[in-house]
Amino acid sequence: MRPALLDPLFAPAATLPGVGPKIAKLLDRLLDRPAGARVIDVLFHLPYATLDRRARPKIRDAQRDAIATLEVRVAEHRPPPNARSKAPFKVLVEDETGDVELVFFLANHDWIRKQLPLGETRWVSGKLEMWDGHLQMVHPDRVMDAAALANMPAVEPVYGLTEGLFPRVLAKAAQGALARLPRLPEWIADKNAQRLRAPTFAAALAAMHNPQQPGDIDPAGPAGTRLAYDELLANQLALLMVRARMRTLAGRSNISDGRLAAKIEAALPFRLTGAQARAFAEIRADLASPKRMLRLLQGDVGSGKTIVALLAMADVVESGRQTALMAPTEILARQHFERMRPLAEAAGLRIIILTGRDKTSERNRTLAALAAGEIDIALGTHALFQESVAFRDLGLAVVDEQHRFGVRQRLALASKGEAVDLLVMTATPIPRTLVLTYFGDMDVSALTEKPPGRTPIDTRAIPLDRLSDVIAGIGRAIASGARAYWVCPLVEESEELDVAAAQERAEALRAIFGTAVDVIHGRMKGADKDAAMERFQRGETKILVATTVIEVGVDVAEATIMVIEHAERFGLAQLHQLRGRVGRGAGRSTCLLLYKAPLGEVSRARLEILRETEDGFRIAEEDLRLRGEGEVLGARQAGAPGFRLARLDLHGQLLTLARDEAQAALERSPRLAGDENRPLRTLLYLFERDEAVRLLEAG
Ligand code: ADP
Ligand code: MG
Repeated sequence: MRPALLDPLFAPAATLPGVGPKIAKLLDRLLDRPAGARVIDVLFHLPYATLDRRARPKIRDAQRDAIATLEVRVAEHRPPPNARSKAPFKVLVEDETGDVELVFFLANHDWIRKQLPLGETRWVSGKLEMWDGHLQMVHPDRVMDAAALANMPAVEPVYGLTEGLFPRVLAKAAQGALARLPRLPEWIADKNAQRLRAPTFAAALAAMHNPQQPGDIDPAGPAGTRLAYDELLANQLALLMVRARMRTLAGRSNISDGRLAAKIEAALPFRLTGAQARAFAEIRADLASPKRMLRLLQGDVGSGKTIVALLAMADVVESGRQTALMAPTEILARQHFERMRPLAEAAGLRIIILTGRDKTSERNRTLAALAAGEIDIALGTHALFQESVAFRDLGLAVVDEQHRFGVRQRLALASKGEAVDLLVMTATPIPRTLVLTYFGDMDVSALTEKPPGRTPIDTRAIPLDRLSDVIAGIGRAIASGARAYWVCPLVEESEELDVAAAQERAEALRAIFGTAVDVIHGRMKGADKDAAMERFQRGETKILVATTVIEVGVDVAEATIMVIEHAERFGLAQLHQLRGRVGRGAGRSTCLLLYKAPLGEVSRARLEILRETEDGFRIAEEDLRLRGEGEVLGARQAGAPGFRLARLDLHGQLLTLARDEAQAALERSPRLAGDENRPLRTLLYLFERDEAVRLLEAG
């Protein structure tokens, strides 16, 4: 149970001063808590900027276009000429060095006359501007008498808002939330607290919401670092506890002498790269051990993950159990099937594919064979983890292109058997920092080297107004036997528009190249997609216009040209994935990034990086830098821990420290039992690391 100490922080935000039902709704929206924002959510909504009102110059010395707090005498009221006039109400104020016009549009005249009585001394704070030769301050942020001045925060936090929510209301709620902070124990180990020069959790929050200087709210400053570290520590503790728990779930050792894998290796037309051999050895050791495998196989597009998976499956089959591989799309499942089947059959393995569109009779036969243990390898889409699918004895589940699936789906597949080992393959090169956060619960094997004999891809950025040159160039290339993908723009939120764009482009190209042009998109029936893919693979069609359905994994070695239309609309990682569809054979490949000019700064940087490098890991790091941790994994997926305070682009380097601290704590006490661990337990509850909390409660 949550320590009672924390209860005030988990009380509804509606209990805060100035927050009635209407404001509460706005807070729910702002803080993304449809079920109701809590005090803690308000506390964790940190200011992103400050207004610095410390400058108290004489008018003559005041800086233009900066905030100043001026002590002035009210010299003159200049109301608009008549009641219907749209002219502003102006107030001339002065000190002994000069004067300033305060400008109020659509003003409440009574309020002005009351707040700024003629002849009185007042303090006004706001941005000073030069306009038409006069100094003016349009709508001063604050108009104060001596008493109000004494209460003015010299440095005022600025919060993200939502429509209808006013800054002062939120600021007041934040102050109210601060006042609810209980005395909390220190959970960071002394030596780390010293090393980070960390203020306490409460002091850090106070510094953020009551900054004394603008630097206080800097996420990379002491307060920001402290809060980020707390969140990372909670995250690492939770991941390690979940992982330890998974490990204690009985595993089974798969006993094999590698006979079947050796047969497959012998049937390969190539030798494994060093990286593939190493990864396979790591997986093999996991499979043979009585512990449960939870391993991530990470490798850039084209690094050869599939074969590693197949070898692993062979070992498990040899030990008498079944295996399954789940791919995110039917095209991919089918491609795995086509490529694995000859190899699997060379080793005498029985392999099938199960998709959402098998005929009922066929499907029933397949299901019966799976349940009877007559199938060794089942490939498929999410159809694999539907309830009707049962295995006789599933030993290994492989999940390809993990970022398309949520954690829940992974677990659904793993629960199809007893002590199922899990291998997750991802082609999104995930920066080290993110592996630790998102997959801290998994071991990692990385394919850091590509199969030999690949020629670098010639990548060019070309403005869209040179489209006709590009088309002419493609015409020449296909005349000499090349094959090209043409990827159409991604339209946010609407698959239909994607499809329309692809169809339109295909029509335009057909008008020139006739039947050499084909189209493939997400709205086509599975069988039609496969057919289109096959025609392209066999070379019956030469130009395949596509939406991003081809993004993941599809492999046609003869395709050497990738055209990406409106490349500026794609993310860096996605562009990299798309480009990875070519450059797979020995021939020289080209990637044309067609962009609409003018390019924004970030888009330009993206295309530049792509031209510079094909190294997926570097691209991922740059991607992270360009947009923050945001969508590197197609974020927001279920199961990916969202961070509220930590930013991996700024605080990524704290992660190792947090991990070490978490590890040390759990080594001392795996369940964080006892009084001395009370602070860390409090931390977990504070950051709502539910998975771990449930383990604590399970005893
Ligand atoms: P990934 O899934 O990692 O993107 P694939 O497993 O689809 O990559 O492999 C990409 C291509 O490289 C395939 O055509 C595969 O046959 C080939 N390949 C894999 N391993 C090797 C190797 N060691 N030597 C040569 N080619 C390889
Ligand atoms: Mg693949």
